[in-house]
Amino acid sequence: MANLRFKSVEEATARKAVKVDLPKERVDAYYGKQVFNRQRMFEYLPKETYEGLVEAIDNRKPLSRELADSVAEGMKRWALDNGARHYTHWFHPLTGSTAEKHDAFVEHDGKGGVVEKFSGKLLVQQEPDASSFPNGGIRNTFEARGYSAWDISSPAFIVDNTLCIPTVFVSYTGESLDYKTPLLRSLNTIDKAATRVARFFNDDVKHVICNLGWEQEYFLVDEALFAARPDLVLTGRTLMGHESAKNQQLEDHYFGSIPSRVEAFMLDLELEAHRLGIPAKTRHNEVAPNQFELAPVFEEANLANDHNLLLMSVMEEVAKRHNFRVLLHEKPFAGINGSGKHNNWSLGTNTGKLLFAPGKTARENFRFVTFVANVMAAVHKHNGLLKASIINATNAHRLGANEAPPAIISMFLGSAVSSILDKVVAAESVETISINGKEQLTLDIAQIPELTIDNTDRNRTSPFAFTGNRFEYRAVGSSANNASALIALNAAVADQLNLFADKVEERIAKGETRDMAILEEVKKLIRESQPIHFDGNGYSDEWKEEAARRGLNTETSAPLMYDIYNTPESVDMFERTGVLTRKEIEARNEVKWETYTKKIQIESRVLGDLAINHVIPAAVRYQSVLLDNVYKIQQLFKGEKAETIAAQDLRNIEKIAEHVSAINTNVKDMVNARKIANKIESEREKAIEYHDVVAPYMETIRYHIDKLELMVDNEIWPLPKYRELLFIR
Ligand code: ADP
Ligand code: MG
Repeated sequence: MANLRFKSVEEATARKAVKVDLPKERVDAYYGKQVFNRQRMFEYLPKETYEGLVEAIDNRKPLSRELADSVAEGMKRWALDNGARHYTHWFHPLTGSTAEKHDAFVEHDGKGGVVEKFSGKLLVQQEPDASSFPNGGIRNTFEARGYSAWDISSPAFIVDNTLCIPTVFVSYTGESLDYKTPLLRSLNTIDKAATRVARFFNDDVKHVICNLGWEQEYFLVDEALFAARPDLVLTGRTLMGHESAKNQQLEDHYFGSIPSRVEAFMLDLELEAHRLGIPAKTRHNEVAPNQFELAPVFEEANLANDHNLLLMSVMEEVAKRHNFRVLLHEKPFAGINGSGKHNNWSLGTNTGKLLFAPGKTARENFRFVTFVANVMAAVHKHNGLLKASIINATNAHRLGANEAPPAIISMFLGSAVSSILDKVVAAESVETISINGKEQLTLDIAQIPELTIDNTDRNRTSPFAFTGNRFEYRAVGSSANNASALIALNAAVADQLNLFADKVEERIAKGETRDMAILEEVKKLIRESQPIHFDGNGYSDEWKEEAARRGLNTETSAPLMYDIYNTPESVDMFERTGVLTRKEIEARNEVKWETYTKKIQIESRVLGDLAINHVIPAAVRYQSVLLDNVYKIQQLFKGEKAETIAAQDLRNIEKIAEHVSAINTNVKDMVNARKIANKIESEREKAIEYHDVVAPYMETIRYHIDKLELMVDNEIWPLPKYRELLFIR
C-alpha cells in the first residue's frame, strides 16, 4: 500500500494559491452587507418601529410584543431579499463554540403551498432542546428546558443563507447556560461602577463602555497533511512529532513575507469578515512557522466578542476553500510558540474619553491614575481568578512554556507610568492652584508626555500589560471564548471601583475634600497592590520564585485552578456585582472539570491508537528489515568481522525493541489509569486524576515515539512529520 504520508506531502506541495475574486467596488460598498445594521433597519422598518428599536438598543430597554412583531417582519423581508432561507438563534453554550439550529421561513398557507413567516415571538425567544448542552447539573435539578432570547445590542447577520440572531441562553429558572449572559451582566456592572468613579472627575459622564480589540493567532496546515494526522483531526493538536531541525530559531517568520497561498486565504477571509461587518484590519505572520494573526479595529466588547466567535467559524470555512485547515488550538505543535488571543481591553466614557489614557490636564491625569490604581488592585486581589478564567486543558500547554504568557498573572506598567505612580504615593497634598485661570493640581502628574506613553516599552513576557491607553490581556487562549476572561476581569474591576467609591464617599462624609479623599485611597491602592506590578522578564525562573514570595498564584494545574471560582472571595465578588450567582459558579465549575476530563480522555485514546496501530507496526517493520540485514551479514561474513559490520544494526534493533516495549507498557498503564479515573464520581476529583495521573503518560509515550521517528526509515514512517506540516510553500 502506498504510504499516505507521501501522497499527502506530494499533494500539499503541488498546490498553488486559489484565486480570489476581489470585488470591483470599494470596501464601503460591501462592508456590513450581510448585517441588519441601523442603515438596514432604517430601510426595512416603519419609522416608529425603527425609532422604538434604536431607543431600546441605546437604553437597554425590553421590546414590546408589537414592536418585536414589526421588527421581525422587516428583518424577514431584508433576509429574504438577501438570499436567506432559514433563520436561527445563535448562542454561545458552555462548550466554548457557537450553537445554531436552523428553521426555514416556511409555514402552510392552507392551500397546499407555503408562506414565508417570521413572527416577533420567534425573533425574541425560542426554546432550543438544550438538554444536550453542558449545564453542570442546573438542568437536572430544575426545569429541563432552556430558552434563548434575542440580544438586541448585537445585530442579526446572514451566513450561508441563514439569518443568525445573536441570543443569550438561560435555563427556565433564570440561570445562565452560556457565556453571553454573564458577559452582558459584567458590562452592565462595570458601566455603573466606572461611571460612578468617573463622575468624581466629570459630572457629564453618564455611561462607560467597555472596549475589546482582540488579536487572533492561528496556524494553517495543508488539508491533505491534516487529513493524514488523526491527532490533528480529532484533538486539534499533534500528540507526537519530533521537532523539525529548523523551526523558529532564525526568527525569520514573524512579520516575514506571507506565502501566496496564505495571502489568498487572508484576502478571502477579510472579504467575508468585511461583508459581515467585522472590521478586520491587521494581518501578519506570527513567530512560529505557519502561524499567523488577524486583528480587527476594537469595538464595544459584546459586539467584538460576537465578531470574534463568528470570525473563528468563518475562518474554518474559508480555509477549506483554500485547501487549508485552520488550527485554533493553543499548542498544535510542541517546541514552537502556541497561539493566543490578546484581549486589548479599555473603558471609554460617553464623553469620548478613554479612562486608561493619560490626558492633557492635571485632572485628566488624576483620573487616569485613579483608574490604573483600581485595575491594579482588582488584578492583584483576583490574580488567581483571572488565571482560572483562561486556563483549560488546551491553553495549559501554552502557559508557562516560555512564550506569552507565564502561568503567573502580573501586571506590566512600563517606566513612565511606574514613575508617575511613585510620585503619587509620595504626594503630600492636592492643594489646587490656579494656572492660566484653570484649576490645576500641584501633584506632579500634570504632564505625562503622551508620546512616551504611546511608545511605552513593550514587554511581551507580561500576561497583562499596559499599552498606552488600554491593557492587553495576553493570557487568553486562541480557541477560547473571550467572554470567560472578560466576565472575570470586568466583575473584579467593577467590584473594586465600587469599593473605592464607597471609601471615597465615606471620607467625604467625614469632611475631607473630594480630591484629598481620592488621593488618599489611590495611594493606599498603589501601595497595597505593588506585588502585582512586575516589569521584568516574566519567563525567568527567578520570577517564579519572586512571585511565590509576593503571594501571587503560581498553580499550574487547571482542575485545581477552578477551585478559585468557589472561594468566598470570588463568590462574594461575583454575587456583589450581580455577574454570577453561587449556583451558576458551581454549575460552571462542574462543566469545566468535565470538559477538562473529556479533552484529556480523547487525547489519551487517540495517542494510544496512534502508538499501537501506526507507530509500533512501522517500527517493527523497520526492525525486521534490520534483522534481515543482520542475518544476511552473518551469512556472508563470519566471526568478528560479521559482528563489527552488524554492530550498529544490532544496537538499533535493541533500541527499537526498548522504545516499542516502553510504548506498549505505558499505553497499557495509561488505559488502566483511565479506567480507574473513569470510576471516580466527583467531576473535580476525576479531572484532578486525569491531570495528575493520566496526562503524564502521554508525555512519556510521546518521548519514545519521537525517538523512534528519528530512527525508523523515512520511507516507512506513516505520519506527516513536523518539517512537512509546518512549511507552506
Ligand atoms: P500589537 O500586536 O502590537 O499589540 P495590533 O495592532 O496587532 O497590536 O493590535 C492592537 C489591537 O488593539 C487592535 O485590535 C486595536 O484595535 C486594539 N486597540 C487599540 N486601541 C484600543 C483601545 N483603546 N481599547 C481596546 N482595544 C484597542
Ligand atoms: Mg498585541
